Amino acid sequence: MRIVVVGAGYAGTFAANRAARKIRGAEVTVVNARPEFVERIRLHQQVAGTAEAATPLGAMLRPGIATRIGTVEKVGDGTVLLGDGESIGYDRLFLAVGSTVRALPGTVPVGTWEGARQARAALAALPAGSTVTVAGGGATGLETATEVAEARPDLRVRIVAPSVADCLSGGARRRALAALDRLRIEVVDDGVEEAAAGVVRLRSGREAGSDLTLWAIVAGVPDLAARSGLDVDAGGRIVVDACLRSVTDRHVFAVGDCAGVPGTRFGCQTAHPQAKAAVDALARLERGRAPEPYTPRYVARCVSLGRADAVAQFTHPDDSLRDGYLGGGAAMAFKKIVYVGTKYSTRKAVGA
Ligand SMILES: Cc1cc2nc3c(=O)[nH]c(=O)nc-3n(C[C@H](O)[C@H](O)[C@H](O)COP(=O)(O)OP(=O)(O)OC[C@H]3O[C@@H](n4cnc5c(N)ncnc54)[C@H](O)[C@@H]3O)c2cc1C
Repeated sequence: MRIVVVGAGYAGTFAANRAARKIRGAEVTVVNARPEFVERIRLHQQVAGTAEAATPLGAMLRPGIATRIGTVEKVGDGTVLLGDGESIGYDRLFLAVGSTVRALPGTVPVGTWEGARQARAALAALPAGSTVTVAGGGATGLETATEVAEARPDLRVRIVAPSVADCLSGGARRRALAALDRLRIEVVDDGVEEAAAGVVRLRSGREAGSDLTLWAIVAGVPDLAARSGLDVDAGGRIVVDACLRSVTDRHVFAVGDCAGVPGTRFGCQTAHPQAKAAVDALARLERGRAPEPYTPRYVARCVSLGRADAVAQFTHPDDSLRDGYLGGGAAMAFKKIVYVGTKYSTRKAVGA
């Protein structure tokens, strides 16, 4: 069986490795836009220069999996069409193209590999006393602002969002806001409307000096599925059945950020279990057995606050927030397990 996986992030790499291991006779090909596997959950560290987020893709894939570097333009009717005009045939397709960042002009996105590298270079070139604005107050904004402020205490850092840290609640949120205060990060409850050389204009009409504005908001998914005629939901995610097959084309599975499963959020905590469930469903179907449905199940939201602090807020399985949380050393240990464990399980395709 020819299996093609489009996108080699957490979901696609996990799916390819698991399919190669679990589906007898599978010939697996991974198509990815670049020759690296990018740990997106470390992109704020890539920006601040505290870690390298890329690993050669070959080191993440099981022997025998073929790779093709290129951008897929269209899929369907058993064929993946690449931007260079070449095509690859498939019997089953896994779409794992992740999510996108629509950065405001004049800002540099944190959530893409290219953006993070650009941001790192721009940050390194800033002289002491410069101002960095981080747009976005969710987990990516918090992680970026704290990482940058800690790595470059000679800069002024501000974070701008209508409600900073509202991905957390209660004591966990208070702890995150205290960390911003400790790192002397200015918190501005507003939105960035426009960014130009040296200045940002906020929703309130206020203007503020900004030598570098980082866009730390991840929103939307690539339009590959919609362009290819697959049914997508209002957010552009692929509409799937209980075992993550496209409702339009039963030869196509969708996993990770691009899969339209109600009640799920963008996250590795979503990507790995989906990749596991979809591959296992295909393996069962191939053996003439009924596939098991995928059920989202969450444990925690873990946010780093620089290299010396973190907060991990526990969640109910449906991702609603519990009161309980960890801070300081315990949360940092938790986050380390997330970083190291996520990469390990992507490579081994286990543990989801
Ligand atoms: C700074 C930051 C911190 C984060 N921290 C956490 C965290 O702590 N915990 C957590 O659970 N989540 C976290 N996330 C979210 C998490 O990184 C994403 O949800 C996760 O990467 C989704 O995995 P994925 O495989 O679906 O997509 P991705 O990892 O985005 O991979 C998609 C891949 O598909 C490729 N691709 C896209 N289109 C095409 C195409 N047309 N042709 C070929 N290739 C294509 C892309 O280049 C990419 O390699 C964080 C995100 C950011 C930005």
